[in-house]
Amino acid sequence: MKVGVVYDDLFLAHDPGYGHPERRERVEVLAGIVRGPRAVSELIVTPSRRAERKDLERVHERDHVDLIEATARRESVQLDGDTATSSGSAEAAMLAAGAGLHLLDRIADHEIDTGFAFVRPPGHHAEWDRAMGFCLYNNVAVLAAYARVVHHRHRVMIVDWDVHHGNGTQHMFEEDPSVLYLSTHRYPFYPGTGALHERGKGEGLFTTVNVPMPGGAGDAEYLAAFHEVVRPVVEAYRPDLMIVSAGFDPHENDPLGGMHVTAPTFGEMGALLTHAASDLGAPTVFVLEGGYDLDGLDQSVRAVLDRLKTETPPAAAPEHSRLTPILDAVKHAHEHFQPLAHAHR
Ligand SMILES: [Zn+2]
Repeated sequence: MKVGVVYDDLFLAHDPGYGHPERRERVEVLAGIVRGPRAVSELIVTPSRRAERKDLERVHERDHVDLIEATARRESVQLDGDTATSSGSAEAAMLAAGAGLHLLDRIADHEIDTGFAFVRPPGHHAEWDRAMGFCLYNNVAVLAAYARVVHHRHRVMIVDWDVHHGNGTQHMFEEDPSVLYLSTHRYPFYPGTGALHERGKGEGLFTTVNVPMPGGAGDAEYLAAFHEVVRPVVEAYRPDLMIVSAGFDPHENDPLGGMHVTAPTFGEMGALLTHAASDLGAPTVFVLEGGYDLDGLDQSVRAVLDRLKTETPPAAAPEHSRLTPILDAVKHAHEHFQPLAHAHR
């Protein structure tokens, strides 16, 4: 497959403060993937583009966009307990929100088959009206809304494998059956949302799928979740676009996550999603979320890109894991899939 990557030096301009785990060095790792002696071959690399105000306001309140833009005039602004800006953050956030839009446009123009947006700040904790948990704008939500309005995609599936639950993304689409949000995450854990019984509301009932994972889960548990829950949900929902909130903080060396996933398993998860989507004719766009161990981030992103390039199919499902009771509970909570059929109109 032709793999597009958005990389931009301007993502270095966001500085959330000394000692913050979501640090500029993460961008330097990503730079080493697209250029220099260890660059991954055959990637089609482009800089990002700014999301326009109308793109942001499909999922964010106008006052929130005003607030983020105003931070450009200040050396530092503290937005919540662990979210702060520097004077370059507003520009970086606008480019982070635009990166996925750029990739989707290029997919529609047949210039690339799939894409990975190497963005920061991350996005999935950002709510309609506020920044939260290192996130300023909700990058995948901006992309999902753009895909619906501009590219007429009617069944957008967002799979979020970051170790944290994407509260912002869930809340933005929990009543909307045209966007299915599925998250695997450590639970209970920050930010506190993502319980099994959070399944969407109103018209969107059952188009939110939460797979809460115990601390210490590793390769076997994640592969079991992807084979037993994620793939059947893809097949039931039949998305016309797959978006991945690709956080690498479930990595075994991550300082925040407390999980034991290794780099090849992220490649396997990426392969499973892209193959399941492409069997339905749907492209896949990956958007970076967390991932705070620099070597773990480097190896994991490379593993995903390698699987996209080579199109090696996913391996067979593991026989069983200690996650089986949780996965059975998720399947039980979603055994009535008829509401998903309503989303197919
Ligand atoms: Zn995270």
